[in-house]
Amino acid sequence: GLALRLDDVHVRFGDTQALRGLSVEVGPGEVVAVTGPSGSGKSTLLLCLAGLLVPDTGRVTVGYTVVSSLPDDARTRMRRSEIGVLFQFGELVPELTAVENVLLPLLFSGIRRPVAHDRAMAWLRRLRLDDRADEQVSGLSGGEAQRVALARALVIEPTVLLADEPTGALDTPTGQLVMREMVDTVRASGTTAVIVTHESRVAAYADREIHLRDGAVLGEPAVGRSGLPG
Ligand code: ADP
Ligand code: ADP
Repeated sequence: GLALRLDDVHVRFGDTQALRGLSVEVGPGEVVAVTGPSGSGKSTLLLCLAGLLVPDTGRVTVGYTVVSSLPDDARTRMRRSEIGVLFQFGELVPELTAVENVLLPLLFSGIRRPVAHDRAMAWLRRLRLDDRADEQVSGLSGGEAQRVALARALVIEPTVLLADEPTGALDTPTGQLVMREMVDTVRASGTTAVIVTHESRVAAYADREIHLRDGAVLGEPAVGRSGLPG
């Protein structure tokens, strides 16, 4: 089966046709980069996959679930358990420590704090951030904060990670390190990932690139499965 699927998805905002018949298929464990000029529909595509936006027509499927026809509460539950999201600015709580930020999604799912803490620490160790665990987020570097945000997105062990310009706020070398770490981590955990980016260097880390233009797929230039360059 497929991990993610969009079938002939249309989304309109007023007079703007953001997605015009977009069809995309992503296999389990695949790491896909979504590229395209500003306004081509990349963020809208992610919102549909995250179940945060229901398309006007067409179908969105995550695993065996047709997300686009779920009632709101079921869509919210699916999102909390299956989908990890990562944005350009990690949207961490700056007054909380790194480990407190990472354990929050587990508390929201009703997991008891000591268990949540252990799981959060395991993810921070995996991302070699355990020595920063008790640091307030406001005291972390940009790269560290984005890795904390990655740990927070993955701590629920989602089947899918959706990332929107995850390295867009970082300088180039830091962005490349974070991207590499992100791709290594999702590959090691078998997580399917869809990463929106406008940087071709970032896209090179993916298994495949989906290039959008005017709300539809323009072409899918092969970038190979050979792993990470450099
Ligand atoms: P991208 O992420 O590729 O820059 P978006 O998906 O953000 O593209 O936007 C696609 C088009 O839809 C753009 O023309 C954008 O201005 C428009 N759009 C996106 N979201 C909204 C919204 N909430 N209201 C109105 N127009 C929107
Ligand atoms: P990106 O940098 O990914 O292209 P944008 O800055 O275009 O993102 O959009 C950021 C947010 O604003 C998204 O949630 C998008 O849906 C919304 N948005 C984009 N264009 C418009 C618009 N014309 N009117 C209202 N909201 C918009």
